[in-house]
This record gives sequence, structure tokens and C-alpha cells, in this order.
Amino acid sequence: MSQEHRSKSGFETRAIHAGYEPDPTTGAVIPPIYATSTYKQDGVGGLRGGYEYSRSANPTRTALEGALAAVEEGERGFAFASGLAAEDTLLRALCRPGDHAVIPDDAYGGTFRLFDKVAVPWGLNHSPAPVDDVDAVRAAIRPGETKLVWVETPTNPLLTIGDIEALAGVAHEAGALLVVDNTFASPYLQQPLTLGADVVVHSTTKYVGGHSDVVGGALVVRDHEVAEKVGFHQNAMGAVPGPFDAFLTHRGLKTLAVRMDRHCDNAERVADFLTSHPAVGEVIYPGFETHPGHEVAQRQMKRFGGMVSFRCTGGEDAALRVCERTEVFTLGESLGGVESLIEHPGRMTHASVAGTDLEVPADLVRLSVGIETVDDLIADLDQALG
Ligand SMILES: *Cc1c(COP(=O)(O)O)cnc(C)c1O
Repeated sequence: MSQEHRSKSGFETRAIHAGYEPDPTTGAVIPPIYATSTYKQDGVGGLRGGYEYSRSANPTRTALEGALAAVEEGERGFAFASGLAAEDTLLRALCRPGDHAVIPDDAYGGTFRLFDKVAVPWGLNHSPAPVDDVDAVRAAIRPGETKLVWVETPTNPLLTIGDIEALAGVAHEAGALLVVDNTFASPYLQQPLTLGADVVVHSTTKYVGGHSDVVGGALVVRDHEVAEKVGFHQNAMGAVPGPFDAFLTHRGLKTLAVRMDRHCDNAERVADFLTSHPAVGEVIYPGFETHPGHEVAQRQMKRFGGMVSFRCTGGEDAALRVCERTEVFTLGESLGGVESLIEHPGRMTHASVAGTDLEVPADLVRLSVGIETVDDLIADLDQALG
């Protein structure tokens, strides 16, 4: 699809068509899996379409990267072997030892570990700040040293909402870039680059891939200069996905819009059901008017997503029991697949932050609401809570 056509078409059209024209030799409608490491050159340096070696570029990956850029409305997209590989590449592309970053005080555990255990020894320092408090983020910035303000919205597992537009203003005032981890919302619900962010990060393992069958990551950038740096480091560091992974991720992206709408429909129904259940205390869902970030979420998100967290009135034991008793919801980490998942953050995804400021309540349960029949999901939770 041409650049011009792409910028005028709707989200679903871009998700399905951008980044790839039917193959000129065979007419293949879907990008073939180019399982090749190298490419024949027509004379020394005579590359066909720029392809030289598959760490540098592979046509299956190129198609995915074009589609990712189009759905996030960015200048360029880059695919990686995992979300954390994308993050590591970004940090080393944009920061140098001695620099500083502001990170969410409830960042995804793996992101926190990357900053704390890998970036710190390398010389990049960080300060945590709550993403829903713009003044606290501003106060955490060290003028001249802070190169990145990193946010997630909604956060995991407490679904806190950060105001992307306001945070972009704060970052830019200080000469820093705003990085938004858009994994929880997905590009269908929220496009941070259009709100002033400079870089979008994805774990495409989650909603973009959408079927729990592939691990991957992505960066999408707004600016040409940042794109050049990220592109250089993608090749120089080499944490790229293989063509099979790129194919699966791209296949997932094409149905993102319809899946997300069903995830949201089901999450809304499940959240309403939980609110009325006597064994459930607080239900955390940005779609509720009582959620402190509701107004901001309504402004910057199309809908409120498929993640729901809740607290059990019976404490930690009750929370653990619910996680063990569900039959349709599968007990497991990760999120964003078509199947519903349930987990206990305190003992599972967030066990590594126990005893720190990032500790989560022990009575908390997190749901990744899938796209099964919603009545079955509600009946399952009802019996498990019973
Ligand atoms: C899973 C996740 C990551 C890390 O991605 P991987 O693909 O597991 O490396 C980063 N951020 C968020 C919000 C995530 O949920």
C-alpha cells in the first residue's frame, strides 16, 4: 500500500494492508516466510531491494515493521526478538553512561529489572515516579542529565493512567524524550505518538501477537533522527526476530481491532459482574467513572482495554483460591491472548518486587479477559469466588 493511501486509510485497513504489496513474482497475498539468512548479489554490492543479510533486514520482518509504523502513525517501526530486547536496544541507542531516566514507580517487572540490574551497572541511572502525577514526574527529572521519561499507561497490575500529552510536555521542557510502553492498550486503543510521545514500545507477545504463540517486541518512532539511531542499533546489537516469529506477529496484528473490541466488551461485563460480588472488594478498571484516571483514559484511549484487577475481601488466601479454582480462566502469566488468563501478581508476575516500593497488595487478582463467550467467563468467576 502506498504511503499516501496508507496515511488516509482507517486503522483496520492499515493493520491489514500497510507494509506489504502482493508479491510481484507470485502474487502471494500474505508475506512469505523468507527463511533465508543471506541474499544473492547481482555483482559485488548489487543488492536486490537492499537485502544483504537477515540480521540487517528480512522481507518478512520488513512487512511487519511497515505495518507497525502504520498502526502507530510513526515514521518507522522496528521489530525485535522480545519486548525486553526492544527496550535494551532503545536504551543503548538513546542513552550513554552518566545519563538518567525517569521510570514508572510501578513499571512492568522486567522493565524495572532491566533498568535496575542491567542499565545501572552500565552507567544509566533512573528515578521512579508515579505516572499519574505530572508534578512528581517533573520533579524527578534531572535537568541536563535526564534523556528519557519512560511511562506505561495503563500500568500493570494496578491499571494507573498517565496523561501522555501532559507528560510529553514535561519531558520536552527538559529536553528529554517521552517513551510510552503501549503494550496494555495496544495501538488500536491508543496511539501515543499522536499525543506527543517520541517512541512507542511494545511487547508484541501480548495483544499485537494476540494468540500466546510468539514472543516479540517493537519500537515505533516519530522522528527521523531517532529512527536512524534505533535502526543502527537494531542491526549492530542484533536482537531481531526470525522470519517465522515476524510472520506470526504480523498475522496477529491484522485482527487486532476486532479482537480488542471483544476484549473490551468482555472486560466491561466481567468488571461489572465483579463489582456486584460479595467476595470482591475494589474492582480496578479504567472504564469505571470512579477510577482516578478515568477522564484521562477517556480522552486518550478509544476504549478501556481487556485487563481487570480486583481485590478479594477474604485476603490473600481467598485470592490464591480463586486463581486455583477457575476452569475457563487459565492460571498463568502473560496477557493479551484470545484465551482468558488469571494470576496472583503478588506471588507470580510481581513476586520479584515484594518488599520494595513496587509491592502489590496480597489480595489482588489480575485478569486478562479473553474473547471467549462472556457468560462462560462470568459463570467461571462466580463458581471460583463461590
Ligand atoms: C511483557 C511485557 C514487557 C516485556 O516484553 P517481553 O516480550 O516479555 O520481553 C514489557 N512491558 C510490558 C507492559 C509487558 O507486559
